[in-house]
Amino acid sequence: MKLRDTHNRIARYLRIGVTDRCNLRCRYCMPAEGIDFAHRDDILSYEEIIRLAKLFSDLGVDKVRLTGGEPFVRKDIDVLLRSLSDVFAKVHITTNATLFSDHINLLKEIEISGLNISIDSLDRDRFFMITRRDSYAIVMKNILDCIKNGIPTKLNIVVMKGVNDMEIIDFVRFGIEHNVEVRFIEAMPFNDDDGNRDVYMPATEIAEMIAGEFPSLQKLVADGSSSEKYTINGKQTVGIIPAYSRSLCSSCDRIRLTPQGELLNCLYAQTGTNLLAMVRDEKVSDSDIQQAIVDSVLLKKKSGLEEEALIDKNAFRSMTTIGG
Ligand code: SAM
Ligand code: SF4
Repeated sequence: MKLRDTHNRIARYLRIGVTDRCNLRCRYCMPAEGIDFAHRDDILSYEEIIRLAKLFSDLGVDKVRLTGGEPFVRKDIDVLLRSLSDVFAKVHITTNATLFSDHINLLKEIEISGLNISIDSLDRDRFFMITRRDSYAIVMKNILDCIKNGIPTKLNIVVMKGVNDMEIIDFVRFGIEHNVEVRFIEAMPFNDDDGNRDVYMPATEIAEMIAGEFPSLQKLVADGSSSEKYTINGKQTVGIIPAYSRSLCSSCDRIRLTPQGELLNCLYAQTGTNLLAMVRDEKVSDSDIQQAIVDSVLLKKKSGLEEEALIDKNAFRSMTTIGG
């Protein structure tokens, strides 16, 4: 059985938010303080995640990504990673790379399919200003260690006009020097007052800036992933993720499971299907849960623009509860 929506897209890729907690406080993602984190009892246990993962796998999902919050903040994440790598051919992680110095061997052992590391500045002071933590040195060390160890690594940079857009070219050069794909993400405004609207830089402008420095920049045919792909000199790949301009919704194959067990069929969906309640109800069978998943995917809207129109702009939302 496949998870096909009414716009003929098939959901094959599940992003699992394993926690809403994080050790950084990136300014585009979280406020500096006063965050109301989910209680431990209200988030999916590893056993519950594995049970759901197997049900998704039976429905044709073949790729998962652990995200958060910061996945490596959650205790014994190794246990979950090992179990998921038994279920799925492709296991990926998105991480801020501050906490996994001790996990590099495990990532090699389970042959992790990909690691996306978030780093928004190559300058220690600016990194601190953006993340509100002085973690640049450990993040850079871990990036270089991953590359050295042959772990398939990409770098994620949230671009903010006037904050770090002056580093776009430096990041491209870093990618060329270390043979690593860099991906520039449009900053998504979630709430009217989160400040992201003021610094928003569209994907088209990011591409123009790179082309100005690297005239050989060539756009590749869309491959169904979340990023627009470009090459420089036919070799170096650069990605641009139109998270806010949403030019790639027509090929979206992603669904999201939040730490609280809510299945969201779109990054912009404000509500979803409560799978946590279902896995904790003895009367609910695996096939009931699978039917709820199928129904949720069927409700997926044509684009994130349609979902956004329904959002309560005053309600506080953060990517830590959705997983990016
Ligand atoms: N803590 C991990 C990290 O930072 O990589 C994983 C979770 S984070 C929410 C996942 C991705 O979402 C990161 O690449 C982060 O930069 C991105 N992100 C967070 N808030 C965002 C926003 N408002 N707009 C665009 N990207 C955002
Ligand atoms: Fe934490 Fe990632 Fe959000 Fe930064 S982007 S605060 S590292 S969850």
